[in-house]
Amino acid sequence: MTPATNLLNSLRAIVGTAHFLTHDDPDADLSAWEQDWRKRERGRALAVVRPGSTAEVAAVVKACAAADVSIVPQGGNTGMVVGSTPDASGKQIVLSLRRMQAVRVLDAANLTVTVEAGCVLQALQEACAQSGLLFPLSMASEGSCTIGGNLGTNAGGTQVLRYGNTRELCLGLEVVTAQGEVWDGLSGLRKDNTGYDLRHLVIGSEGTLGIITAATMKLYPMPVAQLTAFAALPSLEAAVALLGLAHQHLSAGLTGFEVMGQFALGLVRKHFPTQQVPFAARARPPQASPPGQRTPANRWGRGAGIVLFWKPPTTNPKPTPAPNWSGC
Ligand SMILES: Cc1cc2nc3c(=O)[nH]c(=O)nc-3n(C[C@H](O)[C@H](O)[C@H](O)COP(=O)(O)OP(=O)(O)OC[C@H]3O[C@@H](n4cnc5c(N)ncnc54)[C@H](O)[C@@H]3O)c2cc1C
Repeated sequence: MTPATNLLNSLRAIVGTAHFLTHDDPDADLSAWEQDWRKRERGRALAVVRPGSTAEVAAVVKACAAADVSIVPQGGNTGMVVGSTPDASGKQIVLSLRRMQAVRVLDAANLTVTVEAGCVLQALQEACAQSGLLFPLSMASEGSCTIGGNLGTNAGGTQVLRYGNTRELCLGLEVVTAQGEVWDGLSGLRKDNTGYDLRHLVIGSEGTLGIITAATMKLYPMPVAQLTAFAALPSLEAAVALLGLAHQHLSAGLTGFEVMGQFALGLVRKHFPTQQVPFAARARPPQASPPGQRTPANRWGRGAGIVLFWKPPTTNPKPTPAPNWSGC
């Protein structure tokens, strides 16, 4: 028996036949794990393994380390940089975390949730909302991406202005190291100043330092209201001025601020011709500029859009003074 066959037999025994796929099986279709979601790159895996517990992840990593075979951890496979798919060598193992999706503990008093790495972001948001709590990480891929992938990439999302990147939302991690040992760093303690903080090394390391199997994340009270404003502005400079005003008047109530330029709106117009371009009728014509020179006017073109998300703070019973936008 070859070393590769030995390894594959061990991996099959660890996760069970139902959760183990190779090209040797003519009925197995590995394409969903071998290709990035934009279908730009296609790799070839030695096998896809789908462990169901931290102990199984550790056993898989130990077996691969002993055989000197590299592993590509995969969550929802929604990443933009093809980090979660194997190369074309046919020698890498794809380790999918998607079976590990349990919400282990939701501690409403401590405002924390401990969740397994394969939990889909939207499922976590919904589980927290059922207890009246907000898990604020949010992005357009939330129906598919996983907490492990969010931590692996230190994802940002639409509310990063208020709540920070995924790093800022994480209080503790459970990680399987490259040797197959389990580091239990799960903790809901906010005021933790004990020594080195391995958590921050692992977050954003995309599986190069270990495989995240679970995490303790921060929660917030659910906001009582949410307002969204959409504004047309003549330049990026005006957008920056508007952001300054929004910070000044809304403080922590400001959760998001997104700028849409003409290029993005042009793509919407091209691919979704029935969509109405916002403010198109009231847009100013672009100002002339010397050929090749980018001025704020021709960089943003007509009516750069600003989307403002504003969540009034839940703890402040005083009414927020009405913002004065007249400076923009
Ligand atoms: C429509 C759309 C909108 C998006 N919006 C945003 C956005 O606003 N902000 C943003 O930051 N990103 C955004 N993304 C990119 C992507 O969704 C995020 O990077 C997301 O965090 C990836 O999660 P995933 O579970 O799909 O990870 P995957 O794509 O499966 O993996 C991403 C990386 O993390 C590693 N990894 C996965 N799981 C683990 C684990 N358990 N332990 C260690 N490493 C792991 C993988 O090996 C890979 O290197 C968007 C993507 C799409 C398609």
